[in-house]
Amino acid sequence: MGERFGQACAVRQKGLKMTLQAELRSMLIRVADVLLEAIFPTRCYVCGTFFPRPPEKALSAKGYWSKFAETFPDNLDYQKVVSPFLCPSCSKGFTLVEPPICRKCGFMMNTSSENDPLCARCRTSPPRFRMARAYGVYDQAFRKAIHEFKYREAIGLVRPFELLLFSTFLRHWNPEDIDIILPVPLHITRLRKRGFNQAYVMFRRWPRMAEILNADWPDIQVRPDMLVRTRATESQVGMTQEERQANIRNVFRVRKPS
Ligand SMILES: [Zn+2]
Ligand SMILES: [Zn+2]
Repeated sequence: MGERFGQACAVRQKGLKMTLQAELRSMLIRVADVLLEAIFPTRCYVCGTFFPRPPEKALSAKGYWSKFAETFPDNLDYQKVVSPFLCPSCSKGFTLVEPPICRKCGFMMNTSSENDPLCARCRTSPPRFRMARAYGVYDQAFRKAIHEFKYREAIGLVRPFELLLFSTFLRHWNPEDIDIILPVPLHITRLRKRGFNQAYVMFRRWPRMAEILNADWPDIQVRPDMLVRTRATESQVGMTQEERQANIRNVFRVRKPS
C-alpha cells in the first residue's frame, strides 16, 4: 500500500513537472514574442504598415507548419497562412483558383460545360507542358506579395509561399508519379544579386514539411543542380507570351546529360 502510494506520488510529481515545463516554455515563447515585437515590429510585406503581431509568430517553422496539419492539403486557410506576414487588409486581397479551370494551363474559366475543359489559348496554341497549376490568381495584394518576394528579395515570404505551393502540388499531382523536382535555374549574376533562387527555396523543404504535415512523400529527388542557365536574360515583367518565349529560347542546358 505504502509503496503504491509512493508510486502514485511519483507519477503525480512527474505530471506536475511536465505541466510546469510546458508552462515555462509557453511563458518563454510569450516573452520572446514581446521582445521580438519590440525589436522587430511586424511590418506588412505588401503595404509596409505596422500591425499587431498575431500570436505565436515566434514559433519555429515546424510549429508554424503543424498548425495546418489537420486540414492539409485540401482546406488550407489562406488568411491564417499569411496572417503573420501581411496586415489584415492585405490578407484579404486574394482570389483562390477554383474550378472550372483549364486542364492544361490551370487558367480559371468563367463557365464551362465540359468535364475537363481546355481554354481558348491552349486550344489554339497547345503548350509544350502537360500541366500547370496555381494556388491563387496573380492579382491584388497576392500579386504584390509575389513581386516583393521575387524582385525585392523579401525572403521572409518563403514561409507562407512554400506551404501554399506544397498544398497545390499535392492537390493536383500524385507524388508517386513524380521522380524529380527541379527549379528553373537563375543566371549566376541574378543569383548573386538576389541571393536565392525563388523557385528552389519554395520546395527545398517539402520532404521535411511532408513529415510534419503527415503528407505522402515517396522518394522524390529535389535537385537544384541539374539545369543551368547559359546566359542572363531580360526581366520578363511586362513582356507578352511571345516575347517571353523568344527571351528564354536556348537558355537552359542539362549540366550532365549522361
Ligand atoms: Zn498591408
Ligand atoms: Zn489553358
